[in-house]
Amino acid sequence: MTSKALDTFLNENIAGLKEQGLYNEIDPVQGANGPVIKLNGKELINLSSNNYLGLATNETLKEVAKEAVDSHGVGAGAVRTINGTLDLHLELEKKLAAFKGTEAAISYQSGFNCNMAAISAVMDKNDAILSDELNHASIIDGCRLSKAKIIRYKHSDMKDLREKAKEATESGLYHKVMVITDGVFSMDGDVALLPEIVQIAEEFDLITYVDDAHGSGVLGNGAGTVKHFGLQDKVDMQMGTLSKAIGVIGGYVAGKENLIDWLKVRSRPFLFSTAVSPADAAASAKAVDMLMESTELNEKLWENGDYLKEGLKKLGFDIGNSETPITPCIIGDEKDAQQFSKRLYEEGVYAKSIVFPTVPKGTGRVRNMPTAAHTKEMLDEAIAVYEKVGKEMGLI
Ligand code: PMP
Repeated sequence: MTSKALDTFLNENIAGLKEQGLYNEIDPVQGANGPVIKLNGKELINLSSNNYLGLATNETLKEVAKEAVDSHGVGAGAVRTINGTLDLHLELEKKLAAFKGTEAAISYQSGFNCNMAAISAVMDKNDAILSDELNHASIIDGCRLSKAKIIRYKHSDMKDLREKAKEATESGLYHKVMVITDGVFSMDGDVALLPEIVQIAEEFDLITYVDDAHGSGVLGNGAGTVKHFGLQDKVDMQMGTLSKAIGVIGGYVAGKENLIDWLKVRSRPFLFSTAVSPADAAASAKAVDMLMESTELNEKLWENGDYLKEGLKKLGFDIGNSETPITPCIIGDEKDAQQFSKRLYEEGVYAKSIVFPTVPKGTGRVRNMPTAAHTKEMLDEAIAVYEKVGKEMGLI
């Protein structure tokens, strides 16, 4: 017999979420996650993926992945520290270090477990972490796992960060103090104030950790937020994902040799979870090569981002204060945002609504992620749909 307690717990909670309209139904994509996707047999302009450069469906990368399957098989076969480290993983890490301008890099199975792994390998219960209040869930979980004291500072509020850094370091309570931030905040598209953060870090000898999941491939001609500000020598841990602009799957930390050496012996997903597949490693390495060789896709991404932003702004939508191609369309009321997204879907545009608790109450929005793979025609069509639905709902 299965557990009655579990059944009661699940049934009550699922029903509760459904009642509040917070139960997230999953829409399966039929086929590839490109600029146009098929859902329930319906073709839609896709403005909701993190495939910033269109690389998830890139022909060269598909070929490289197929070749890796032929030469290395479909699985790595073991964890990295037994015999799951293939030549392809080392090649990828060498390229990631070059891409980020650091001595070395280490890769993981996902960006999420990379944050869990790296934060908890470096910080412990004797330490404190200063964390931007809008940091990603994987940062929050990594901080919790470390057992360090978590001190949240107000979003990009440098006065608050400085005060809290001073208090934490002068308290004498902690061995080490880290400041951790997203490079680009994914719900608004704003950029962390890294020059100021680094300055505060220098003043109080803080360890600096930047999660550049949404900055890599986007800012700094593709090399990321740290490069964008020219701070490669001043950030201790540059974390990134291989699942967004790079188009594949995985996460990494780039930094000094001693940091990477430590992560190789102390970060648990590296020690106890099987490495990414040969196809993933080879395709990621090739994608990194492509980004280092040419800025063409990066330029196209910005061109498309600016075009969509301008189009939506002209229509009278509130697109917030994004500094990147991420284009939120802030509606306000949660139910209106959900209804807006539903109507966009019916009219052929896939742009998911994002509501509390992911964003503050009363700032419900539809978030648009234009990519380098969108054509002007697709963006024009999307803007026309926004105009139609926006007028129909009295939002513009
Ligand atoms: N950090 C940030 C800021 C993210 O947005 C994400 C993905 N949503 C992650 C980490 C996790 O990356 P991945 O999807 O590669 O696990």
